[in-house]
Amino acid sequence: MKFVEPKIFLVGETRLVNEGLQGYLDHLGVCGWTTDAPSDAEKLCEVMGRLCYRSFEPGLNPNVTRVRQGNAAYLGNIVNVGHGSVLEHGYLNFIFADVSRVFTHELVRHRAGTGISQESLRFVRLDKLSAYVPMHIKENPESLEIFTRTIEQLEEVQHDLARVFDIDNIKQFDEKKKLTSAFRRIAPDGVATTIGWSCNFRTLRHVLEHRTEPHAEEEIRLVFGKVFELVRERYANVFADYEVEVVDGLPWVKTAHRKV
Ligand SMILES: Cc1cc2nc3c(=O)[nH]c(=O)nc-3n(C[C@H](O)[C@H](O)[C@H](O)COP(=O)(O)OP(=O)(O)OC[C@H]3O[C@@H](n4cnc5c(N)ncnc54)[C@H](O)[C@@H]3O)c2cc1C
Repeated sequence: MKFVEPKIFLVGETRLVNEGLQGYLDHLGVCGWTTDAPSDAEKLCEVMGRLCYRSFEPGLNPNVTRVRQGNAAYLGNIVNVGHGSVLEHGYLNFIFADVSRVFTHELVRHRAGTGISQESLRFVRLDKLSAYVPMHIKENPESLEIFTRTIEQLEEVQHDLARVFDIDNIKQFDEKKKLTSAFRRIAPDGVATTIGWSCNFRTLRHVLEHRTEPHAEEEIRLVFGKVFELVRERYANVFADYEVEVVDGLPWVKTAHRKV
């Protein structure tokens, strides 16, 4: 048995196809257009937004005499006016490891704009159990003792069941799968596992706002607090409007522009 902390890995992000983008800009007659976006994902959102009004430069659309310059100003305005659909073009791919089934169950409730791949506990047999220890349990020695003892016992139960069915010597994988799924029913909700989670910027903003607020559960607050640190640094222009207030030792990520 091991105590673990949730781990956040950003494993993928939107990449531009520069020849294609240049082809489009040539087609539009703005072959020299550039921007100062810090990432491809933010640049793509800017391009998709500007194409709506042909606002790459004044005069392209006879109705447009002035355009905003720069990626920060452009995306700042998108957030300000709530044109969140433009932010759906930038996509990020995360892996969250050593997170509990409490966390994953809450995460998968967010459906719009997400992609999910979750470690299968029908296929992956629980052997060593790991768990995150919530603050209240950690701070109380007697409860920590109960928590530790229970997880150790549940780990032992997994070993006992594996022995009763001699699962290591079963050849048919289908049979192993059925047994593994039966055994997992006695594992704790807090068992550490892994989930791959992809989302667009708009979705991520929505999830950050809801899942870092003080009423949300501790572990998901912890994870999305870390996600915010990462994305704030890497995609500064998409998350520039957020402010952080620390509540109960965890960041509450707030904005005046909720749910763009
Ligand atoms: C603090 C907190 C406590 C919670 N407590 C509970 C609880 O006790 N029980 C419980 O069951 N859940 C609970 N939830 C989960 C919550 O009800 C939502 O299911 C979850 O946060 C997903 O958010 P969402 O509905 O915005 O969906 P998302 O998939 O994140 O969707 C984003 C937005 O897209 C739109 N959208 C998405 N799908 C549809 C659709 N099918 N039709 C129309 N519009 C759509 C909505 O505007 C939605 O807000 C809790 C969430 C939080 C943050």
